Amino acid sequence: MRIIDIQTQIVSVPTDIFKFKRPLGNITRKHASRDYLVVHVQTDDGISGMGYCFTIGQGTRAMRAIVEHDLKKIVLGRDPLMIREIWEAMWEGTNYFGRQGASQFAICAIDVALWDIAGKAAGLPLYKLLGGRRREVRTYATVGFISLTIRELQQAAEDAVKRGFQGVKIVVGHPEVKTDVRRVKAVRKTIGDDTILMVDANQAWKTARRGIDCILELAEFGIYWFEEPVPADDVEGILEVLQSTGQRIVGGENAYTRIQARPFIERRAVHVFQPDLYRMGGITEMMDVVAMARGFNIEIAPHHVPEINVSTMCAAPNCSWLEHVPLFQEDIFDNCPTVKKGMARPPEEPGHGVRFRQNILDEYLVP
Ligand SMILES: [Mg+2]
Repeated sequence: MRIIDIQTQIVSVPTDIFKFKRPLGNITRKHASRDYLVVHVQTDDGISGMGYCFTIGQGTRAMRAIVEHDLKKIVLGRDPLMIREIWEAMWEGTNYFGRQGASQFAICAIDVALWDIAGKAAGLPLYKLLGGRRREVRTYATVGFISLTIRELQQAAEDAVKRGFQGVKIVVGHPEVKTDVRRVKAVRKTIGDDTILMVDANQAWKTARRGIDCILELAEFGIYWFEEPVPADDVEGILEVLQSTGQRIVGGENAYTRIQARPFIERRAVHVFQPDLYRMGGITEMMDVVAMARGFNIEIAPHHVPEINVSTMCAAPNCSWLEHVPLFQEDIFDNCPTVKKGMARPPEEPGHGVRFRQNILDEYLVP
């Protein structure tokens, strides 16, 4: 089998079409739109694979240019089942300017399409192709965007609990910690003491000292984990927060490939590592990072992308949680994992089984 063609599309979906009719986001990033670079990889025996990467209103044109001008010539003509060979070639072929950033997102899009082809060629769903470990995975819901009022936040948390999610996550990191305290307290009151509540600071606390102080103020509300307390690259700062607070500290969604994942894992700077499929450069590298974390007995809870990660995490022995963002994914994809009693099940069809909704492709394709 050979790769004979690669087509690219950009899809840009404004977030104000969704339930709350306004840009969503956290302290450090606003999501005015949800943007996808989609690639379709065609083979000479009729099997094709779809892959994509996601960003927030920026970068997709650069990612597309990298696929069109740099990756296509590396990938065309190769055997699509030689996925590691192709991944290494894409890595080497973009290494002079790449290693982090848009190049990894572009590599991810092709890598995901290759795994889709491999699943279809083998007649296996992705989670079994990767060596299935479980048939369903425990799932929490991220609901607490910064642009929601306290009342909307409480409603979103309540809806998530009613739908059976086993945990609820909200965003913190306001300039005044008392604002966070008010929001966390309100949500805790809504969901009761028995539901797991996580908070995500998205790097908002700029020093370890500030992170420690804010975490100690919020800890009385029974927070299950504190996510990204300080700037993402400050591994020593995260470690200081972990050691000083005695709380469960998680992070890693901004780390690129095994190279940036390594210090988090090797230094045990987080209790749970949260690889991002796109920054990892796709499924191939992400599963290597899962294995690296396993060697240190560190849990994995990937950064969103539940429609793909429901499959990767059903093949990850050390996965503890899948993140789902009901406000987003369910409007974009067919075949989003359905959550029953807090557990998500992967598609059983060959490949990853993910498809963009037809109305999204019809209305939001960028020319
Ligand atoms: Mg996060």
